[in-house]
Amino acid sequence: MIILDGKLVSVTRREQLKLRVKKFIESYRRSPQLVVVIVGENSASQIYVRNKIIACEAVGIKSTKIELPATCQQHELNVVIDRLNLDQEVDGVLVQLPLPKGLNENEINTRLSPYKDADGFTFNSLGHLWAGQPIIKPCTPQGVMNLLEHFKIPVAGKHAVVVGRSTIVGKPMAHLLTMADATVTLCHSKTPHLREHTLRADIVVVAAGQKHLLGKDDFKKGAVVVDVGMHGSGQGKGVTGDVRVHELQDWAYAATPVPGGVGPMTIATLLENTLILAEISQQKKQQKK
Ligand code: NAD
Repeated sequence: MIILDGKLVSVTRREQLKLRVKKFIESYRRSPQLVVVIVGENSASQIYVRNKIIACEAVGIKSTKIELPATCQQHELNVVIDRLNLDQEVDGVLVQLPLPKGLNENEINTRLSPYKDADGFTFNSLGHLWAGQPIIKPCTPQGVMNLLEHFKIPVAGKHAVVVGRSTIVGKPMAHLLTMADATVTLCHSKTPHLREHTLRADIVVVAAGQKHLLGKDDFKKGAVVVDVGMHGSGQGKGVTGDVRVHELQDWAYAATPVPGGVGPMTIATLLENTLILAEISQQKKQQKK
């Protein structure tokens, strides 16, 4: 079985990105900048944000953290978003989720400009994606596509099953696979007889958020299995996914490990998205001249 080693692939992609960022800085005499907004004290979110900031710095992307208290009101958060939308020095903005109770994620998703949306979650970004005109693509699904491409896993003409229909993973994942000419079945918690679908698939992407939900008996021999699920601290040790990957050794053609599969690809894509947004911003500035 081929191990779809996202950690290794992301190192290669980050090295390539470092060169692209260097070229950007030489051309425009500024660094691309990602602003991460974090509201409240959620310790897992603090770890994710710290990792994203370290990753930015390693490739030469400037990163700024805006910390708001858990008592922050929606209108105060909106003011921050509006200011970032207008800031010419800011290329990407990421609002770390989940937001504390009382704050509305959808408000951010309608407010943040798609030209600043490094995660690719805003309704505007998703609308562009659905219309086949993406500005940037959501990090996790695009990270999966990059991983499949790296390992030369054919997608066109294949039957892909996506398990999970969230707006940030499952649905855009199904869409990107469709754009790559797979025939896609989207399954979810109300799908009867899930196994009947997964057993027919050439490629299965599992993003159900249910620890060890699927194993060998759920996949046909020779399937490609991508596990997006992440359960545990997010710090490596003890982290597991939605798939019992240890059962797949002599069964699957290829599978992702957890940790070290989709997770590192997501962060690499976030960095790539920030550079894409910075390049678009510079092109717009040139056009205005
Ligand atoms: P979510 O809870 O928003 O969505 C889960 C989806 O799975 C839902 O659409 C639900 O209908 C479906 N589902 C739940 N139980 C099911 C079942 N028994 N059978 C079939 N479908 C079922 O979760 P999400 O935000 O999409 O994340 C999914 C998982 O991926 C989580 O474990 C999350 O931590 C992980 N995740 C990982 C990364 C990464 O970078 N590795 C990024 C985002 C999310």
